[in-house]
Amino acid sequence: MRKRPRNPERGIKNSARLFARAQRVMPGGVSSPVRSFASVGGEPFFVAGARGSRIRDADRRSYIDYVMSYGPHLFGHLPAFLRRALDRAVRKGTSYGAPTELEVRLAERVARMVPSVEMVRFVSSGTEATMAAARLARAATRRKRLVKVEGGYHGHADSFLVSAGSGVATLGIAGSPGVPEEVAALTTVVPYNDPDSVERAFQRFPDEIAAIVLEPVAANMGVVLPAEGYLRALRELTRRHGALLVFDEVITGFRLAPGGAQELFGVSPDLTTLGKVLGGGLPIGAYGGARELMQRMAPSGPVYQAGTLSGNPLAVSAGLAMLGEIGGRPPYAELESKSNLLETLLAAEIARLGMAARVTLTRVGSLLTLFFSPGPIRDFAEAKRSDTRRYAAFFHAMRERGIFLPPAQFEAWFVSTAHTEAELRRTARVAGESLEIAFGTS
Ligand SMILES: *Cc1c(COP(=O)(O)O)cnc(C)c1O
Repeated sequence: MRKRPRNPERGIKNSARLFARAQRVMPGGVSSPVRSFASVGGEPFFVAGARGSRIRDADRRSYIDYVMSYGPHLFGHLPAFLRRALDRAVRKGTSYGAPTELEVRLAERVARMVPSVEMVRFVSSGTEATMAAARLARAATRRKRLVKVEGGYHGHADSFLVSAGSGVATLGIAGSPGVPEEVAALTTVVPYNDPDSVERAFQRFPDEIAAIVLEPVAANMGVVLPAEGYLRALRELTRRHGALLVFDEVITGFRLAPGGAQELFGVSPDLTTLGKVLGGGLPIGAYGGARELMQRMAPSGPVYQAGTLSGNPLAVSAGLAMLGEIGGRPPYAELESKSNLLETLLAAEIARLGMAARVTLTRVGSLLTLFFSPGPIRDFAEAKRSDTRRYAAFFHAMRERGIFLPPAQFEAWFVSTAHTEAELRRTARVAGESLEIAFGTS
């Protein structure tokens, strides 16, 4: 693999041609919006393959990858153990519409690893998991209202595609055409790291709030850490007001610790949603909690939720391989030291360039964001102050030099165990150059 494109303009043809074809038959040319590079401009590359820390495009360029499929690849692309598990699984069929031992084993493992989970239901995506968790929370509390955090992402179900109305702790407004205003109005949007706004929501809507749903570490507004005591305050408030606490751990689950953010921060939610790492790159999601709560789901209870491909044997085999690897050879010390090295090296570049007042690094474990803003970043309002045009220039400078970052400011960079120290050093060096380009000081 070539380390760096010899000429950034040469050989862009295959991706360009594919993108032109794609746009004729797929909206925006992609299967998910962020992939189109809409927020950084330019055209996306099309992927030919990926292995370890590297992703290769249709024009034979190789990049050090920090997108990592937005989270599943804790061990990099296609680690040997995962490939072996999938090879074995595919020989036995791809889907049955009947239960397998694989699902039982994966459910047992999830319940062992995630502190608040006794029972789990497998679905095919994170979106499905949060959608079903919301239905279960509403059924269990016989209440309709959800509270979500501004800038939090929980997939594309109507109830979560909601933005803050004017003022905090008020009725949500539809975040997309097609979301009925009546549905959006049932979601209250509050700022992250602000327990008082949740308290106000409980006062404004007494006995109406079924659940507060949040990412315990916000990772979809860029990485924003929970303030000391925030998660515990939400635990107390929800208990006091008879609402459920739902942790969306689709990103943080199995990434920050074997038991996710709830283990790391020592706060137990009522329901947890999982995805991404759980499937190692195959489509899977899950939601789980206490037995008493989960047994309300059909067929043991009345709350309906189903799926043709739920518990898919390939996805579940991938999940067993991922959780088996995590159990057998926990990657967290290595992820922490590699991510810490990257953060330290980036901070040194920022200091060397005298840019500490222009950019802010946030990190927890292997999740990291470089905000183009002075910081501190404690919620979405502060994240949004970032200079996204400079981020776009930075993104393109990095990409031209063989480093693939998320094509949007408000996404996490994902470090894997496959990233080598040499690659992390190179990333920081190139980031220094790219910062100079982005700020026009080179
Ligand atoms: C990715 C993500 C989802 C949605 O998962 P999909 O598999 O894309 O449907 C939900 N919640 C969080 C926190 C996510 O990062």
